Amino acid sequence: MRLAERSTTTALVAAAAVSAASYDTCCDRLASALGDIVTTTPFTANDWFSIQESTLVPACIVRPRSAQDVSKAVTILNSSRAPGCQFAVKGGGHTPAGGFANIQGGVTFDMGHLNATALSEKGTSVAVGAGAVWNDVYGYLDDFNLAAAGGRNGLVGVGGLLLGGGISHFSPRVGWACDGVVGYEVVLANGTLANISATSHPDLYRALKGGGNNFGVVTRYELKTFPQGNMSVNTFSYGVSQVGAVFDAFNDVAADPNFDPYVSLQAGLLYSSAAKAWSVSASAYYTKPVLHPEVYSGFEALPSISNTSSITSVASLAAENPTPPLNWLFATLTLGTSSETMLDIFKTLNGSLYDFNPAGGVTWNFAFEPLPSVMLSKSAATGGNVLGLDPEDGNGIVLLFSALWPNSSSSDSIYQKGRDTFTAIEKVAERKGELRKFEYLNYAGPHQSPLASYGAESLNFLRQVSKKYDPTGVFQHKVPGGFKLW
Ligand SMILES: Cc1cc2nc3c(=O)[nH]c(=O)nc-3n(C[C@H](O)[C@H](O)[C@H](O)COP(=O)(O)OP(=O)(O)OC[C@H]3O[C@@H](n4cnc5c(N)ncnc54)[C@H](O)[C@@H]3O)c2cc1C
Repeated sequence: MRLAERSTTTALVAAAAVSAASYDTCCDRLASALGDIVTTTPFTANDWFSIQESTLVPACIVRPRSAQDVSKAVTILNSSRAPGCQFAVKGGGHTPAGGFANIQGGVTFDMGHLNATALSEKGTSVAVGAGAVWNDVYGYLDDFNLAAAGGRNGLVGVGGLLLGGGISHFSPRVGWACDGVVGYEVVLANGTLANISATSHPDLYRALKGGGNNFGVVTRYELKTFPQGNMSVNTFSYGVSQVGAVFDAFNDVAADPNFDPYVSLQAGLLYSSAAKAWSVSASAYYTKPVLHPEVYSGFEALPSISNTSSITSVASLAAENPTPPLNWLFATLTLGTSSETMLDIFKTLNGSLYDFNPAGGVTWNFAFEPLPSVMLSKSAATGGNVLGLDPEDGNGIVLLFSALWPNSSSSDSIYQKGRDTFTAIEKVAERKGELRKFEYLNYAGPHQSPLASYGAESLNFLRQVSKKYDPTGVFQHKVPGGFKLW
């Protein structure tokens, strides 16, 4: 992994350096202007996906009820009379890296009350509060036989997913989830509440599509809707002896130049250190209500442990209940389509992880997802994003590399093992000539450089837009969490 963009580690160090006394002043100032939406009532563990985030304790939490509350709070925190007041912004709380959406000893904005959904008069778009989770969106739109492109798990936040890109069940049909945003309501660094669209602030509009939390606090998104009924859910699990054949079946779909736009596919590898056992699976969804869709015949043909096909609504598929947080590690890389490379990656993972069993155990989880060129071609049609991807590169694959473990005393050894293993598989992909430069921000680990991976043109553009709308670098320095630009 490359070390570049300033991220979590600096966030934690910077927050710790600010004295408790100055945070009393920050929180006092906020409370006297905003009243009881400023609180020291702590988060509950279930508010967060990871232990790394849930164990950080802010000095106070701002729970805005309106965009104006956010505007007032940002104005106060940006004031020259509050020089040391650092803050974090929490959407759905699903980024695992500590300090990305929470802050030790600082001020955390919990956007959760801003979760209203409202369909436009014509039904072609839906306004969604930036503190909503995808359950809120799909539950609301299902009743109208509509959907919007968003996360596949219902508790993931609208806020973070749309700022980093967003791989959706519908992406091959409509592009990255961020490509479906037609308007943003944002509180800028100076506290101004601005409506951003392709026509009003085209530079900021584009920068928000992949630029992360570097430009403001988003209070509302306007998302394009499209007709959507039930969809098809096909799940396969296999013995590890089938791994190569599963990769072949995956690759047949992922590499197809006529990629079927109704495909929503993940091939998964899971390794439990305690059981010393791999499992291999495919979550092969199809965004039409067709049982056993033909496109997945390669998976159907393999001897499986289980093979199910059912029809369900988008909302039911996404629905989930909160679970207590665990320690999590995320990292990502992007590959060209090659089942041979996937198999070599699996062999390298097995060699590196097989004998590693830290106290409390660790589960490694690797998800391969198609990145078809048909999906990338959609963004230009919607005004473009900053991800720097070119449909001409052909179909690719995004790999989400993750680990989860309960015992925090094992964290150091797991991080080390994770880094070594990730570096090893990156080398495999490079040697095969299949490593691509793109690092998907929402899957990236804190030591990766997703914004730089977009390429020099996008990175320079993002920096210029940041300097234009946030000349003093509020979202670079006062909001230290996340991937930063300067
Ligand atoms: C179980 C699970 C399932 C996932 N599924 C998918 C998936 O299907 N597709 C996909 O593409 N990704 C997926 N992801 C990755 C996901 O997109 C990222 O973790 C994303 O950052 C989560 O957004 P959040 O609002 O929940 O996170 P948070 O941790 O709350 O926020 C993430 C980042 O966004 C910033 N942010 C959040 N809201 C705002 C706002 N209103 N204004 C400014 N900044 C804000 C935060 O400051 C933080 O830096 C998944 C992750 C998990 C853990």
